[in-house]
Amino acid sequence: MNELCPNCYSRNRLTRNYVHVPGFREPSLCTDHWHDEHESEDTERVIRAIHKVFEVLVEIRGILKPRLTSAILKLKDIEMPKTVNIGETAQAVITGIDQNGSPIALDATYTVAYQASNPADVSFGTPNADGSNTVTAVAPDTGDVISAIITRPDGQQVTTTSDTLTINAPAVPVLTSATLVLQ
Ligand SMILES: [Zn+2]
Repeated sequence: MNELCPNCYSRNRLTRNYVHVPGFREPSLCTDHWHDEHESEDTERVIRAIHKVFEVLVEIRGILKPRLTSAILKLKDIEMPKTVNIGETAQAVITGIDQNGSPIALDATYTVAYQASNPADVSFGTPNADGSNTVTAVAPDTGDVISAIITRPDGQQVTTTSDTLTINAPAVPVLTSATLVLQ
């Protein structure tokens, strides 16, 4: 692109110099298209810059938006690990953590899949919207490790920490007392 107006010799597209037009006594402002061409080129450059700024803002918004990055799974009980008898239940509670270390609540937009190190020894209910679930003891286990895989709305998966469920074996009858009757 020409950096100089061929008509008025201006170097700035916004500045139109006065030029003498043959047949006219008074000089008039340059009407050369050189000025217009550069203006439209400048406008395109500004639009491209605005688009770039917009893209960066969208990127920043994505970074700042709280998203689940880790999660803690706990089987509710005073004693840890939790111990139950066959047929009894434990309540699993999940605490979600975002990229800044703050708690983030799970809702129906997350999918939670429970898993156990010994799957046959427990059964899981349908997880609630907040990710909590009921774990039912099915068979004796000295330590069944329970965790969950959470799928975020964006499809990324986060695995919770695990907690251990101990399931007591049914008590075997043992002699503790006896009566004697004369017949
Ligand atoms: Zn000019």
